[in-house]
Amino acid sequence: MKTDILIIGSGLAGVISAIVSADKGKKVILITKTKTLLSGNTPHAQGGIIFKGINDSPEKLKSDILKAGAGNCWNPAIEELVNNGSKYVKKWLIDRFNIPFDQSEDTLHLTSEAAHSEPRIIHVKDQTGKGIQEKILTEVNNHPNIQILTEHFAVDLLTLSHHSKNPIDIYKKPACFGAIVLDMNSAEIFPIKAKNTILASGGLGQIYLHTSNPEEARGDGIAMAWRAGVRCFNLEYIQFHPTTLFHDTGRFLISEALRGEGAILIDKNGREFMSNFHSDGSLAPRDIVSRGIHQTMLDTGHPCVYLDISHKKSSEIINRFPAIYNKCIEIGIDITKEQIPVVPSAHYSCGGIGVNSVGKTSLKRLYAIGEVSCTGLHGANRLASSSLLECLVWGVNTGIDVSIERDENNYFPEIWSWEQEYKEIDPALIAQDWLTIKNTMWNYVGLIRTKDRLIRARTILRHLQSEIEEFYRKVKLTREILELRNGVQTALSVVSATLESRESRGTHFIQENE
Ligand SMILES: Cc1cc2nc3c(=O)[nH]c(=O)nc-3n(C[C@H](O)[C@H](O)[C@H](O)COP(=O)(O)OP(=O)(O)OC[C@H]3O[C@@H](n4cnc5c(N)ncnc54)[C@H](O)[C@@H]3O)c2cc1C
Repeated sequence: MKTDILIIGSGLAGVISAIVSADKGKKVILITKTKTLLSGNTPHAQGGIIFKGINDSPEKLKSDILKAGAGNCWNPAIEELVNNGSKYVKKWLIDRFNIPFDQSEDTLHLTSEAAHSEPRIIHVKDQTGKGIQEKILTEVNNHPNIQILTEHFAVDLLTLSHHSKNPIDIYKKPACFGAIVLDMNSAEIFPIKAKNTILASGGLGQIYLHTSNPEEARGDGIAMAWRAGVRCFNLEYIQFHPTTLFHDTGRFLISEALRGEGAILIDKNGREFMSNFHSDGSLAPRDIVSRGIHQTMLDTGHPCVYLDISHKKSSEIINRFPAIYNKCIEIGIDITKEQIPVVPSAHYSCGGIGVNSVGKTSLKRLYAIGEVSCTGLHGANRLASSSLLECLVWGVNTGIDVSIERDENNYFPEIWSWEQEYKEIDPALIAQDWLTIKNTMWNYVGLIRTKDRLIRARTILRHLQSEIEEFYRKVKLTREILELRNGVQTALSVVSATLESRESRGTHFIQENE
């Protein structure tokens, strides 16, 4: 297969860049490893997307982003977002796609979240990501220039230095010319060659024991980029969401917007505790709230804390948070009357593949957008509701840049053929290896890190990686083995970055060894 643009991932970043470049007449192949295009972290986004408040300004938003990011943000990225963000929301989401954002008296309903100095967030009830993605997908599905391949797994990026049969290519500037892909139904492995490739493969929460992310968020993109020698930044900054539902049925995000609307964090004895940690109390930045909860759980010896919004009117709660209300009702908690048990979970990767304002990576002909990328916007911690906006801004910018014809992008070398093996892998090995990765990351590379814990994590993961690479080469490739190979690589990449970063800042909290 050959195309102008190969896009890996159908979350908000992937679909918006697909539309922009397809509108410009480019032939796009959009792949996702999932059964449907409605996948990734995007449909799980609840709270909303930053637009603009009544008394807002780019300077105010910039100051909030910098404050949340613990001063570690990249200024050009902030400028890009604060100057273009609300224009793109208006042009693309409101005017082009008609996203059904909630209204209040004929204007958009503006809400607030932690660390925002203004109510400036718009939302589709408490299912903003789904509301946006579904609408865009109706256009993606019918666009004549977009070919969709679901249940297709990107195994590795094709690069001149790694895959060309022509020895001369090793002296050329390193470049990407597509990806090797597994058709998960036929088990066939084949190359898709592309003038430009966009990685939009989302986050990595599943390398942690507790996460708000769905199954597919395994860090595939970081692993592929790492193996191709692409530069990554800030991987130590993993944002832990303070409030995910603590229940046997699994984790479910209890949006920050609840606290924005007045919900209070209390301990098992009913005492408000966040004001002991920060003057903004329950609305302090996420890293501070997460560690405050962690500390309170240790102090009280209780496995969770509680979020209480029962002082608000029932009808208001049900109307504003229908998905959270229904999810809690399913497990027997009526949030209009009862407190919600919550714990922190790995939620968002602030770092990723380093890119500029149009999504270009350090490897020619390779772009990265959305959560897999690191624009530098989030610095050491992400301001709530800024990531959907980042997907939109960089998705549009990249869709435009990638559509510019450049002669050098027309080179496609012959490559080695890829053989599929026949031996099936024992699923018990996969399950056990995931447990090792997830527990190691949670306990040693989680909310509170120490140098000893990080070194221990590196030793465990390096050993595991060599075992996994060994059976990866001998068995029939499936989604499970590929995700495991990527998971261990991404976990190691996070550990490497974390070990290098000796200063506690934002989400990265390092404690001196006793
Ligand atoms: C529970 C939750 C709530 C959130 N709430 C908000 C919010 O209110 N506001 C906000 O701004 N942000 C929020 N976020 C963050 C935001 O949703 C994500 O950062 C954003 O949606 C990421 O979009 P993306 O396009 O980069 O990737 P994703 O939406 O994660 O999509 C990734 C895509 O890549 C595909 N993929 C991955 N690997 C491969 C592979 N190897 N081969 C083929 N396909 C692959 C996946 O199948 C998927 O289609 C939330 C996140 C979560 C988890």
